[in-house]
Amino acid sequence: MKIMSINAGSSSLKFCLFNMDNESVIASGLFERIGIEKSNYYIKYNGEKIEQEVELTNHSDAVKILLEKLIDLAIIKSLNEIDGIGHRLVHGKDKYKNSVIITDEVIKDLENFKEFAPLHNPANVLGIKAFKNVLPDVPMIGVFDTAFHQTMSEEAYLYPVPYKWYTDYGVRKYGFHGTSHRYMSLCMKEILGKEDFKMISCHIGNGGSLAAIKNMKCIDTSMGFTPLAGIMMGTRSGEIDSSIIPYVMEKEGKNASEIINDLNKNSGLLGMSEYSNDMRDILAKCEEQDKKAINAKNKYVRRIVDYIAQYYVLLGGVDAIVFTAGVGENSSPIRREICEKLACLGIKIDLDANNKHGEFVKLSTDDSKIAVYVIPTNEELLIARDTISLINRTGLN
Ligand code: ADP
Repeated sequence: MKIMSINAGSSSLKFCLFNMDNESVIASGLFERIGIEKSNYYIKYNGEKIEQEVELTNHSDAVKILLEKLIDLAIIKSLNEIDGIGHRLVHGKDKYKNSVIITDEVIKDLENFKEFAPLHNPANVLGIKAFKNVLPDVPMIGVFDTAFHQTMSEEAYLYPVPYKWYTDYGVRKYGFHGTSHRYMSLCMKEILGKEDFKMISCHIGNGGSLAAIKNMKCIDTSMGFTPLAGIMMGTRSGEIDSSIIPYVMEKEGKNASEIINDLNKNSGLLGMSEYSNDMRDILAKCEEQDKKAINAKNKYVRRIVDYIAQYYVLLGGVDAIVFTAGVGENSSPIRREICEKLACLGIKIDLDANNKHGEFVKLSTDDSKIAVYVIPTNEELLIARDTISLINRTGLN
């Protein structure tokens, strides 16, 4: 069976076509700058890559070109070969606890929940509609970023604020990166050969979040009502004292959304270093003894260590810690610093193993009290797996 995973952003559309008989990638690619000048795309297939600048006025243009190219490049012979499409969806509030078949109701909910994910949910709807127009009979499945975190208890997801904010306005922790955290838990299940284990999943990229997972279920996660909460990120602050907001509003004559924009886009590594949001740049600056970069890196590491320590206690000890995403998969110095600061938990890592990047590796030594792994995330594959399993379960094939 051939399944396509789709991740539609406000101006982009990422795809991955899988042969699910062996979970191999047939083709993948990205359409960028949709609706902006200089839009372009690339498609990788069979060890080759084509790229082109082309006018993409909307998501439907991207889908049209994508499907044409799949045929032109002989990646598939006919569109009938696509058995299902899985869409990465961002916000399903507390209604969607699992992946679902995309119906009109799901589309309506995505639209209704848009104030919770103003950039992502409308983009997800555009992606769904663009495919529905050309492939109306192909089953479509939605995989929500928030779904995995729906197992959190009230104690974990409620904020200590007036209860009415929760009941009347939906103010609670939702959590994000759920598909990646779930993928980590499934990989650990395979590695450990059981489901009853406790782990901390560290998805640290430009955005980042941690999840405390027990027996394959999310117990707590660091992102919150929005992705602004939790650890420090590339351009996001993570947690701060909320009184800073009105204080700086007054100092800078800005409104609340301008300050939130600063906290989302001009904070984190970028804000503290006044240099870059990219950890590679920050580490290079640290080599030059740049004080702001060193502070930024130290704060970044500290926030992650704080969360791991918190989740270690919450879970009553852990069997495994997993690093994934851009920084987690690639940055040996950051992983080493995090693990060194956790030495009091009995964590020991093999420095040679830690020098590998971008691949699956066991970092911990045999005498480490906690197993530590690097596992490249693969949200696209999990979306494709959910798609096939829902198609099979509901007889849509
Ligand atoms: P996103 O949250 O946008 O999905 P990614 O998971 O792709 O982000 O992570 C991108 C980030 O990963 C970059 O901004 C950079 O900070 C970091 N990164 C990528 N490669 C390396 C590397 N070799 N060393 C350190 N950091 C890296």
